Amino acid sequence: MLTNLLINGQMVPGEGPVETILNPATGKALAEVPEASHEQVSNAVKAASRAFETWSQTTPGHRAGLLLKVADRIEADAEAFARLESLNCGKPYLRMLGDEIPAIVDVIRFLAGAARCMTGSAAGEYVGNHTSMIRRDPVGVVGSIAPWNFPLMMAAWKLAAPLAVGNTVVMKPSEQTPLTALKLALILAEIVPPGVVNIVPGRGDSVGSALVSMPGVRMVSLTGDITTGQKVLQAAVKTLKRTHLELGGKAPVIVMDDANLDEVVASIRTAGFYNAGQDCCAACRVYAAPKIYDRLVADLSSSVKTIKLGAPEDESTELGPLITELQRERVASFVERASKQKHIEIVTGGKRSDHAGFYYQPTVVANAQQTDEIVRREVFGPVVSVTRFDDAEQAISWANDSDYGLASSVWTRDAKTALKISSRLQYGTVWVNTHFTLISEMPHGGMKMSGYGKDQSMYSLEDYTVMRHVMMNFG
Ligand code: NAD
Repeated sequence: MLTNLLINGQMVPGEGPVETILNPATGKALAEVPEASHEQVSNAVKAASRAFETWSQTTPGHRAGLLLKVADRIEADAEAFARLESLNCGKPYLRMLGDEIPAIVDVIRFLAGAARCMTGSAAGEYVGNHTSMIRRDPVGVVGSIAPWNFPLMMAAWKLAAPLAVGNTVVMKPSEQTPLTALKLALILAEIVPPGVVNIVPGRGDSVGSALVSMPGVRMVSLTGDITTGQKVLQAAVKTLKRTHLELGGKAPVIVMDDANLDEVVASIRTAGFYNAGQDCCAACRVYAAPKIYDRLVADLSSSVKTIKLGAPEDESTELGPLITELQRERVASFVERASKQKHIEIVTGGKRSDHAGFYYQPTVVANAQQTDEIVRREVFGPVVSVTRFDDAEQAISWANDSDYGLASSVWTRDAKTALKISSRLQYGTVWVNTHFTLISEMPHGGMKMSGYGKDQSMYSLEDYTVMRHVMMNFG
């Protein structure tokens, strides 16, 4: 197992404290990864600053060529990447191989090509004898900080977009899940010039905060928790770094009386429980119209009972473990507090599983009310709540009555209802009669306390560039 860091083109052992990496499906140790020391983080930032001088001057076509090679290498080694991610995160292996790896390869290829097609205003003479033109230039060294729920996918988003437009990167994977990023580091060391990408694993309060505070870093891109986003912002203030924050969600799913309930149930069964619900877009907060509420709860409950929990390597497994014992206890405590409320009904699950490792049963919480904690806070586990609403106005206001604003969905057969509700939902993504599908061409990112800045799409490339004006006097 690869445990070395990537600094200035060299794979080197970390010189900081050792982090034990666990297999969440068994609770046993998988690897020991020494984190980067403060000096190593500083060396990585210096290497990235030096590399920026030449990398930022390469053509988009040149950078795209190298990124396409990286995508090809991940694709060629798909099974090993999927196996490693599955071991480290407890993700069902076949899902990792069939869903995530193709999306990872695709987004790198898309961003590589898209960076060759940046657009802007036409150059022109807006003052006599002076030509003005718009440029989009890289920001500098980007400090990228990733979470544990989609480690390789987040590495792809957080490396490919800034690199494609000429930035250099120092990336910190999550301390719990660094293994696929370190495997990717070996490929990057072969393909991109020294210093262009540096990968420094470690904890947030040591490596992460050091990275965010270093003056040589001009932009910080974080996917993580709201409180982490607030800490990053505070640290960024000192040197006025640009920030790009993706900070979680609590996705509302509005089901109108005329919705196709079979499709709704099938979609929530997937989108509420994929990756054991540890997904910022998880379909976790269902609002059901009065006439279909009872049937939706009954059908969802029977369907969720059939979700197959098991070992990640088992081909029939649909639900793997949570990432840590701490995360499982967090999820369990949300459900225990909810179940103490008289109006709440736990219609499916609601318990830790007997399986070894950090498993929790897929759970449906019915009769939840808008003021309940289970409706308001991000559980980040295999738990879906269902709340009955009276009319569309109430559903819209409850859906928007949240600190979060990342993703949402509305289910109806009526096009006018779909348009009206989707125009008023305060979420970065609104899906209509579907939930969960992300695509490389379209932006992913939040509003309100879910953060700002877009991943994927042309818009992520805009985020990692600075717009500049050049004016030439030819009079
Ligand atoms: P986290 O905030 O605990 O950690 C995220 C990363 O930040 C880790 O690498 C961590 O080491 C680092 N970090 C922690 N403290 C830091 C500090 N003071 N300075 C710098 N870095 C620091 O989040 P997590 O538990 O790894 O991930 C789960 C969270 O991420 C959830 O809230 C989830 O919704 C969110 N998430 C959001 C999206 C999105 O696209 N919006 C996607 C995936 C996950």
